[in-house]
Amino acid sequence: MRIVLVGPPGAGKGTQAAYLAKNLKVPHISTGDLFRANISQGTPLGKLAKSYMDAGNLVPDEVTIAMAQERMAQPDAANGFLLDGFPRNVSQAKALDEALATDGVKLDAVLDLEVPEDEVVTRIAGRRVCRNDSAHVFHVTYSPPKTEGVCDLCGGELYQRDDDSEETVRTRLEVYHTQTEPIIDHYRAQGLVVTISALGKVTEVTERAMAALE
Ligand code: ADP
Ligand code: ADP
Ligand code: ADP
Repeated sequence: MRIVLVGPPGAGKGTQAAYLAKNLKVPHISTGDLFRANISQGTPLGKLAKSYMDAGNLVPDEVTIAMAQERMAQPDAANGFLLDGFPRNVSQAKALDEALATDGVKLDAVLDLEVPEDEVVTRIAGRRVCRNDSAHVFHVTYSPPKTEGVCDLCGGELYQRDDDSEETVRTRLEVYHTQTEPIIDHYRAQGLVVTISALGKVTEVTERAMAALE
C-alpha cells in the first residue's frame, strides 16, 4: 500500500506511522526524521535544513523533493510506503503525483488525522524523543517513560526537539493551515482522503486508522 499521512504537527503521525507501517509491512518514511538524521550527521543538507526547521518554516521544495524521492527509490519502498510529513504543500504533492505516474503506480489513500488545536499544542509541549531512534516517542504525561529522560525501549537519552518550543509551534501551525491543508483538497479531488479523529488512546487511533484503510 502507498499511503500519505497528513495532520497538524503533534497530531500523532509519527506515533501512528510506527504501528501502521508494521501492520501494513511497508517502510515508514518521515521527511522530518530524514532531516534530523542529516542534522545529527552534520551533512550539508542538514546544515541547510536546520535554519528552516528551527524557525518552524518549510525546508525548500527542491531539496525536500529530491530527498524524499531518493528515499522512495530504495528497494524496501518498491511495493509500498507510508509517507509521514511529505508532501507538505501543493507543489510537493504535484511532484509526488508525477513521480508515481512515471512509475505507473498510484496512492491508495491519504489518511488525515484530525485533532483540535489545543490538544496538538499540549502534545507537542510534552513530546520527548529518543536520540537513538526517532520512532521512540514519549510524552511527559500521556506516555511517560519509566525513568525520566531515559527511553524505555533502548535506554537512549530522551530530548525535546529544538522546534517544539511554544513560539515555533505557533509558526508551524500557521504553516500547516496555509501551506499543508490545501493538499487535502488536492487529494480529495482524487477521491483519496479518509479523515479520522486522532483523539483517544494511541491503540484506539491505530484501530480507527486500520479500519479506515480497509
Ligand atoms: P511534526 O511531526 O511535528 O509535524 P516533522 O518532523 O514532520 O514535524 O517536521 C519538522 C520540520 O521539518 C518541519 O517544521 C519542516 O521545517 C521540516 N520538514 C519536514 N518535512 C518537510 C517537507 N515535506 N517539506 C518541507 N519541510 C519539511
Ligand atoms: P507528529 O508526528 O504528528 O508530530 P507525534 O507522533 O510525534 O506527532 O506525537 C506528538 C506527541 O503526542 C508525542 O509526545 C506523542 O507521545 C503524543 N501522542 C501521540 N499520540 C497520542 C495519543 N493518541 N494520545 C496522547 N498523546 C499522543
Ligand atoms: P546512523 O548513521 O547514525 O546510524 P541513521 O541513518 O540510522 O543514523 O538515522 C538516524 C536517525 O534517523 C534514526 O533515529 C533513525 O531512526 C532515523 N531514520 C533514518 N532513516 C529514516 C527513514 N527513512 N525514515 C524515518 N526515520 C529515519
